[in-house]
Amino acid sequence: MTTINVGLADLPESADVLVIGLGITGAGVALDAASRGLSVVAVDAHDVAFGTSRWSSKLVHGGLRYLARGQVDVAHESAVERGILMQTTAPHLIRALPMLMPLTPEVTRVQGGLARVGLRLGDLLRLGARTGRETLPRPRRIGVTETLTLASVVRPDGLRGGLLSWDGQLEDDARLVLAVARTAVAHGAHVHTRVRVSEPTGTGAVLTDTRTGESRTVRARTVINAAGVWAGDLVEEIRLRPSRGTHLVLRKDTLPGVRCAIMAPVPGASNRFVFALPQPDETFYVGLTDEEVDEIPDVPEPPEEDIEFLLRVLNTTLRQDVRRDQVIGAYAGLRPLLDSGSTTADISRKHAVLVSRTGVVTVVGGKLTAYRRMAQDAVDRAVTEAGLTAGSCRTASLPLLGAGSPTELAALDAPARLVRRFGTEAPAVLANAVEVTGLPEAELLAPIAPGLHATLAELVFGVTHEGAATVEDLLDRRTRIGLVPADRELAVPAAEKVLGLVGG
Ligand SMILES: Cc1cc2nc3c(=O)[nH]c(=O)nc-3n(C[C@H](O)[C@H](O)[C@H](O)COP(=O)(O)OP(=O)(O)OC[C@H]3O[C@@H](n4cnc5c(N)ncnc54)[C@H](O)[C@@H]3O)c2cc1C
Repeated sequence: MTTINVGLADLPESADVLVIGLGITGAGVALDAASRGLSVVAVDAHDVAFGTSRWSSKLVHGGLRYLARGQVDVAHESAVERGILMQTTAPHLIRALPMLMPLTPEVTRVQGGLARVGLRLGDLLRLGARTGRETLPRPRRIGVTETLTLASVVRPDGLRGGLLSWDGQLEDDARLVLAVARTAVAHGAHVHTRVRVSEPTGTGAVLTDTRTGESRTVRARTVINAAGVWAGDLVEEIRLRPSRGTHLVLRKDTLPGVRCAIMAPVPGASNRFVFALPQPDETFYVGLTDEEVDEIPDVPEPPEEDIEFLLRVLNTTLRQDVRRDQVIGAYAGLRPLLDSGSTTADISRKHAVLVSRTGVVTVVGGKLTAYRRMAQDAVDRAVTEAGLTAGSCRTASLPLLGAGSPTELAALDAPARLVRRFGTEAPAVLANAVEVTGLPEAELLAPIAPGLHATLAELVFGVTHEGAATVEDLLDRRTRIGLVPADRELAVPAAEKVLGLVGG
């Protein structure tokens, strides 16, 4: 059974590879190493996707923003990885998202012209990455009528039409991390949450069960530090300059009749936008900021000035302002950027693989879209440094659990929500819930509370197969109900019920 474990129980005393952190990077490293035939132990101090990986914009993006900064290699890599994710490894979790930049009076004709050239270059990146038009349609300039049909909330006075382009959008970032981690388990990796690593060296580390306090030393032939913004706490040579990105959550009816993402240019900046991103659960996320920070808390708080900034920029494109009291939730995440002396907005989003004096291999920086490549580079380096015998990287052609073509997914006999979140595993998610709870299908598939979309069936799977052990695991990472505090309150009884029924 492809199950994520909680705590130290059943954790082997030695492995070829010890992976620290189960964000997208660590989960990717665990899968890469396990699928090359190496034995793997991968742990997180908290839970899968506890850190930055659940606070992203949930875009699998093609790197256009890097091209604008002259980082052609980063842009190409992003486009290639987007194509692999959308066409091979995780097509069930990603959809093509139409993105509209309205040409309002605030966008000068020169800026509009440059943006149009950028979209053409973005399409060349798509072509260079061999991503087909059936996956990502051609970007184009559209007229005023089509702009307002796609987004009737856009301010019509002085509107010159819009620029329409396409990028990948995840069902949810935490669900991608879970899919990668469980696929690693399917390839033999031991994946454990609530296990904190300390004193890592190139040959092992001390692992502590955060619930019981029990500690044990685990020996490994190589240790890979994928602890994101916390990487520097484990390896003193690593110096990071984290930057905070904040998103707001709005109800869908706050921006009625919007059928695409809206890009609002930040006044005075040539290549910065605030995005309103429609989500599958009938909300919008509005983001994002880029502010350097000194503190690294476990869960960053979005400050009021970030919220005001996002509303101010978004409202420049709207016929009616979104008010502060319409913001039903907000979240912030910290980018794990390497300190290179420049401002955080200018620091390259390219990842780095660094080997410490004691032999710990750290992989840091980058972005969610490029996790597979980051993992490949980290494992290649670790294999060389430790002199391991391992196969070559296979992950570019290795579908994650649940992956299926659009035709396969459409033919499944399962509710659409489960197919969107679990792909070809959706029928098994339901069958598992029936088997372990004995409840009728209708009860397992009903919304867990009025106005919410999550079902008991997926919460049950979270506990039996995805290592969820607490209400927070279920509401903040297996589902994202917790992003809206009012919804979270409604959902707590269902999460408690499931933990009572099937929790350890
Ligand atoms: C606001 C924002 C928006 C973004 N949007 C996008 C986007 O749309 N698309 C995109 O491609 N990228 C995006 N990114 C970038 C992307 O989210 C990050 O690069 C990526 O998630 C980092 O993942 P990670 O696994 O390296 O770190 P994390 O997800 O932070 O994982 C590190 C893990 O290590 C664990 N850990 C730490 N210390 C220890 C220890 N001692 N022992 C055991 N475990 C430990 C933590 O609990 C954590 O779970 C965004 C970033 C931000 C901040």
